[in-house]
Amino acid sequence: MIGAEGPIPLAHYMGFANAHYYASRDPLGVAGDFITAPEISQMFGELIGLWLADLWMRAGRPAASYAELGPGRGTLAADAARAMRAAKLVPPIHLVETSPVLRTAQRERLPAATWHDDAGSLPEDGPLLIVANEFFDALPVRQLVRTAGGWREHLVGWQDGRFVPVAGEVPMDALVPEVLRDADAGSVFESSPASAAIIAQLARRLATQGGVMLLIDYGYAGPAIGDTLQAVRRHAYADPFVDPGSCDLTAHVDFASLAATAQAEGVQAFGPVGQGEWLERVGIGVRAEALARSSPTRAGDIAAARVRLTAPGAMGQLFRVLALVAPGWPVPEGFA
Ligand code: SAH
Repeated sequence: MIGAEGPIPLAHYMGFANAHYYASRDPLGVAGDFITAPEISQMFGELIGLWLADLWMRAGRPAASYAELGPGRGTLAADAARAMRAAKLVPPIHLVETSPVLRTAQRERLPAATWHDDAGSLPEDGPLLIVANEFFDALPVRQLVRTAGGWREHLVGWQDGRFVPVAGEVPMDALVPEVLRDADAGSVFESSPASAAIIAQLARRLATQGGVMLLIDYGYAGPAIGDTLQAVRRHAYADPFVDPGSCDLTAHVDFASLAATAQAEGVQAFGPVGQGEWLERVGIGVRAEALARSSPTRAGDIAAARVRLTAPGAMGQLFRVLALVAPGWPVPEGFA
């Protein structure tokens, strides 16, 4: 298509590539391309379930639905559901997933769930308890690059049998925040209109229906200069412009911009705080001890998983946790 019609925006390239990538495989696990927190330990989903149940109890136990964006193998949702059930919270489960392969994996763990192609068809009656772990990093980013002639969109072209990033011709200076406009030539400014659209839509739902959204991902507090587009295959970095659709394309999430988008719709934002700090505050220490007591032969693995999820040099600091809470709902645990 690019060869025939010319370069397309990087965001479109990323969208096409990831749609094919996720539709054609289960990318998770040792035999796949990458591993996520819920696949490292059941503690991750359990603590999220208990955190949701605590907030729900303090909100007066309304009839709520659980919704998850990009649930992978369904591991987090299954672990969270078990923990919520122990706290007498048994919500209907709604999964937003486009990949048929991953839907099959999810159905094995959550046979009673309801599936959605996008967040627009989530239930409209009653509060939503929404979770998104490593979902937003997979959504397309737009990149603007500073050229000698001003800011231009990064496009992807096809030259000599290869995909190559090229600068567009239309001036894009107005889309770059004023504080960043003077950045050096070659600087890249990223934003994710697709992510902002989903956050705005769900924040509006939270503001009218009640509930909460817990968003966990790797990212930063923008706006900032930086090219964070990356490709991962078999647990190693790859070239994003080689073999699109065969590796996972992601970008870091701008938490400040997502929080601001949500706040503009009237919801409260808490965080982001580091994943390690958040997990310690909501009780990963107590949970790890209890698990180790009930299966002493696994004590070493459980301790190692806790370190992997919380240590600053592992997932503890790069990954962050943001909570978007409906107006009138209580202050969530773990943020201060
Ligand atoms: N949350 C899971 C999986 C993360 S991988 C975990 O932590 O293990 C990203 C997930 O988002 C996959 O389930 C993928 O199929 C899904 N996904 C990616 N792009 C999507 C889109 N545009 N709409 C819905 N789901 C999407």
